[in-house]
This record gives sequence, C-alpha cells and structure tokens, in this order.
Amino acid sequence: MSVYDVIVIGGGPAGLFAAGVAAEQGARVLLLEKKRRCGAKLLITGKGRCNITYDEEDPQLFCGHFGKQGKALLTALYSFGVAATVDFFEQRGLPLQRERGGRIFPARGGTAEVLKLLLDYARETGVEIKTSCPVISLNCEAGRIQTIETPSGTLRTEKIIVATGGLSYPQTGCSGDGYRWATASGHRLIPPQPALVPLQLDADWTQDLLNLNLKNVGITAWHNNKPIAERFGEAFFTRHGIGGPIVLDMSAQIRDALQHGPVELQLDLKPAVSADLFDQRLQRELAAHSNRNFANSLSGLLPQLLIPLFVRLSEIPANKKCHSITKEERLRFGSLFKNWRLQVTGLDTPERAIITSGGVNLADIDMRTMRSKVIDNLYFTGEMIDLDGPTGGFNLQLCWSTGYLAGFNAATTARSSF
Ligand SMILES: Cc1cc2nc3c(=O)[nH]c(=O)nc-3n(C[C@H](O)[C@H](O)[C@H](O)COP(=O)(O)OP(=O)(O)OC[C@H]3O[C@@H](n4cnc5c(N)ncnc54)[C@H](O)[C@@H]3O)c2cc1C
Repeated sequence: MSVYDVIVIGGGPAGLFAAGVAAEQGARVLLLEKKRRCGAKLLITGKGRCNITYDEEDPQLFCGHFGKQGKALLTALYSFGVAATVDFFEQRGLPLQRERGGRIFPARGGTAEVLKLLLDYARETGVEIKTSCPVISLNCEAGRIQTIETPSGTLRTEKIIVATGGLSYPQTGCSGDGYRWATASGHRLIPPQPALVPLQLDADWTQDLLNLNLKNVGITAWHNNKPIAERFGEAFFTRHGIGGPIVLDMSAQIRDALQHGPVELQLDLKPAVSADLFDQRLQRELAAHSNRNFANSLSGLLPQLLIPLFVRLSEIPANKKCHSITKEERLRFGSLFKNWRLQVTGLDTPERAIITSGGVNLADIDMRTMRSKVIDNLYFTGEMIDLDGPTGGFNLQLCWSTGYLAGFNAATTARSSF
C-alpha cells in the first residue's frame, strides 16, 4: 500500500518546485534530499544573488537559447514560462527586477530568500521533506518503479520524480545518481559533459589577478586561424585561467575545438575604441608623463592590479622614462589592450562547471509531461535531462518549467489512478 502518491528525489530548485506543484494538485508528496539541507547549489547561484530567469516571454524565442533541441521545451514554457515564474515569486512576496542583458534577479535579498520561498511553498502545500536521506536505488519491475531504497528503509509510491541534477560542484550533493538509475532502467544517456566551465590558460600570473573584474571587455576565441566564438561583457581571472559569464558562454565551442587543436583567446580591454584611437591616447598619456618612469605613468590607463603584469609582458623596463619609449615598444604595449593573446590549455575541472550538458536522452522522455517513455511511473526534471542553456537565468527557468510539468502530471495521473 502506497503512503505517498509522489516521491520526489532531489531538493534542488527543480525538485522543490515539482514537489510543491504536485502537492498543490492534492497529491501526498514526499521529497527526499541526500544533503542535510535542500538547495545547496541554489544558494551559490548568481554569486549569491540568484539569476532566477531571463526576460524573454515568448517561448519560441526563449527556447532558441537552448540550441537545436530547444523546441522540446515549448510545452513546458507554454505551461509555466517566464511570466508565470515572475508572478510565482512576486505573489509570494519576493519582488524581482530586470538587470543588464535581460537577467532577472530578486530586487532585494538573494539565494537565501529564494530558497526560503521555495521551502515555504513546498511546506504550505503539504510536502513532507526528508533531508539527510540519500536514495540508494530504484527497483524496477514490469516497466514500473516498484520501490525506492533509502538507508532508512524501502519506500513505495505511485509516481517518482527524479530531480538529482548534474555532476558539477559535487559538494552540493550532485553525484550523477539520477543518470545511473536512468541507464539501469533502460533510458539512453547523452554522455554528461562539463558546460559553462571556466578555461585554463598557459599563464603563471592569473592568481595575482583574482580580484580583478573585467567589465565591458571583448573576447574572441581563435582556432585554426578562424574566430570560433566572440562575446562582449564581463570576465575575470581564476586561479588557473579565466572565467566569468562571457567565457562560460563560449566554453562549449572551445571544448569542441580543443579536441582538434589549440585555441587562443584574443582579449580586447577597450572594445569601444579602435586600435588607432587607443594609440593616440597612449601617446598623449606618455607625453603628459614624459619624465616619469614608464611603470609610474600607467594609473590613468590600467587598473592598479594589471600594471606590473602589463609592464612585464610588454618587456619595457619599468624604470624607462616615458619620453624614451620607442614607437615599437609603444605599439607592443598597446597591443596588450586591444589584442591580448592568451593560450587556452583546457577546460577547468568538471567540478567547476556551472552545469552539466548531456543527460537523459529527450527521445526517452515525453516532453509534454516529463514522463519517461520507458518507465510508466517515472518523471524527470531539471538539469539531469539533455538540455542546457547559456548563463542568464535560462537553466533555472528550465527547472521551473520542467518542474511544473513533472509535478502537475505526476500528481494528476497519480490521483486519477486511485
Ligand atoms: C556557481 C553556480 C552558479 C549558478 N548560477 C545560476 C544562475 O544564477 N542562474 C541560473 O539559471 N542557473 C545558475 N546555475 C545553474 C543552476 O544552479 C542549476 O541549473 C540548477 O541548480 C539545477 O537544478 P536541479 O534541481 O536540476 O539540480 P540541483 O540544484 O543540482 O539539485 C539536485 C539535488 O538532488 C540531490 N540529490 C542528488 N542525488 C541524490 C540522491 N541519491 N538522493 C537524494 N537526493 C539527491 C542533491 O543533493 C541536490 O540537492 C549555477 C550553477 C552554479 C554551480
């Protein structure tokens, strides 16, 4: 005899939301979370601010950001899209605001408020939440999941929603359990790969620049003498390389190109100014400080943290007087601003990826309901399915939209079977 209509495995954004939606439909819902608390990954989203969604209400345009497979999200977006997401949070007392580039964030507070709101929603709708409860396995017989094994015993339920996320940031609880259960029960898996991942560089100085935020810069990735990706926006150096939104968004193309040969980044710190205009500015700056040492004349041009590095890379002696700098030296120095070349040696470790691409093959999921086509009473939602978007709030919207469909359909079919 089932005590629950629906058991949701995974207390991230997709699982919490799916559980609340299912309970709102009247289902008896249990949510199992392996960690001591739900939402560990949600708490680190958007640098603690949580980029909840992206300001594009047209489902057709929104799903275009998910690449070739994006259309699979249409039903989910028509059922619970960006406007519904904004309403959901605002009606529960968390005003949202649109920021640069269409990103939507809480107007006050951050991830802790978002998580609290989701937990309140789940509890108010009657979801029972059990934390520190890692599901060990799903036992499948006759095309249905019959039981769920946990350290505290065997559970029975009518419907199961798996929302165990991807593989990145394993300290947040993601270890690929859902992928293993999906394959064991006959689903095809698109090999999970790190996506939205920082890059490693052939450079010994990135550590020194950890606190430097590069705003409004341009980056072009070159492979085989051809530009393969180009972005404008924000980036920053990491312990071993470079990260930030524009780098993450190029990382999939760079990952693919690296399999065929080297990739080089061309960093333009002054994309709004042509190389000629920048050289004129440099000439004026050097003339204004003609009797100063070169290294002491750069604070109008460069953030303090970058000065020692640029002096070193330009190979101009730090104590050379500005008036004796040659044209060749000046052009070499100027090229660091407009055409700084950085050799990519690889991707950062998979654990540092923002998301995991690949996952349960969409061909094995009915994307109108999120129900498995292989196992009758199994639903998938969130990062573990084979869909991933760029930075900007797309990946959380994927959780809200597919979580809604999974929760609604698991609950309504569960009820009708009683
Ligand atoms: C640093 C960082 C910043 C990000 N910022 C943003 C952002 O601002 N906007 C955005 O749209 N996206 C962002 N993302 C991506 C976003 O966090 C993910 O897409 C999202 O968390 C996926 O949600 P999910 O519910 O599918 O999985 P998760 O959030 O990974 O949750 C899965 C849950 O399942 C639990 N679990 C796993 N196995 C078991 C098991 N065997 N038994 C029980 N429980 C289990 C885990 O402990 C975890 O709590 C960011 C990601 C990172 C890493």
